[in-house]
Amino acid sequence: MAIDIMHGIQDGVAVVTGGGSGIGRQSSLRFAEAGAKVVVADIDEDGGHETIEMIESDGGEATFVRTDVTDSDDVAAMVQTALDEYGGLDFAHNNAGIADEGAHLADYDEAEWDRMIDVNLKGVWRCLKAEIPEMIERGGGAVVNTSSAAGVSANGSAHYAASKHGVIGLTRRAMVDYAEDGIRFNAVCPGVIDTPMVQQAGEDNAEELDRITAGIPAGRLGDPREVTSSSP
Ligand code: NAD
Repeated sequence: MAIDIMHGIQDGVAVVTGGGSGIGRQSSLRFAEAGAKVVVADIDEDGGHETIEMIESDGGEATFVRTDVTDSDDVAAMVQTALDEYGGLDFAHNNAGIADEGAHLADYDEAEWDRMIDVNLKGVWRCLKAEIPEMIERGGGAVVNTSSAAGVSANGSAHYAASKHGVIGLTRRAMVDYAEDGIRFNAVCPGVIDTPMVQQAGEDNAEELDRITAGIPAGRLGDPREVTSSSP
């Protein structure tokens, strides 16, 4: 079935990585609310199951699949779940990510660099690689990759910023490669959003979070719903 993406996401099938928490949970809820069937993917099983319960208690349809985006077999199984459970794949929000600890670049080692890039950048590539052929099969689709304000500025530590700048380059090139296949690609670049990732950073360094919050024009952290909402 080729889906007409100009007419919304009702009856489509979506996968959301990092769907067990924060922005990914909110995205999963929004997809379900709009009538899509959702494959919620996360390395955190408890968080993933909680998201499913929230969707089902609102009358939506979703399946959780434990997925580590650093593992190509897991990512392939995630996409296969969309095919097996719901017959195809139309939408993806490649959102799973890890945060930095604010260290300067000479202060972390190669393993920390590799880990950041593996999850935040290569993880998105692994997802795209598995998702795109299935979207082509459906005649088109739409993808959102989560970058960050750190993807367009010098915010965050160097490896986090590099990973998020990379997500933007990957998204731009995917758009060129697959424009003729009817797949749209966008990256979202949130500022500081009130999610467990940021709450943890606040617990680790409350002063730093206060300083960051004071520098936000609205004077407050963003809400995950402000990232995933389609209304103004
Ligand atoms: P979060 O920690 O609340 O959620 C991230 C989710 O990703 C978690 O459920 C976690 O288990 C999952 N995850 C981590 N590593 C994974 C892996 N290897 N495989 C699969 N799942 C994995 O954080 P969030 O704030 O909702 O972040 C979501 C995305 O938004 C991340 O990519 C983050 O970099 C980005 N982002 C967040 C902010 C912010 O201020 N919160 C700002 C800009 C960008």
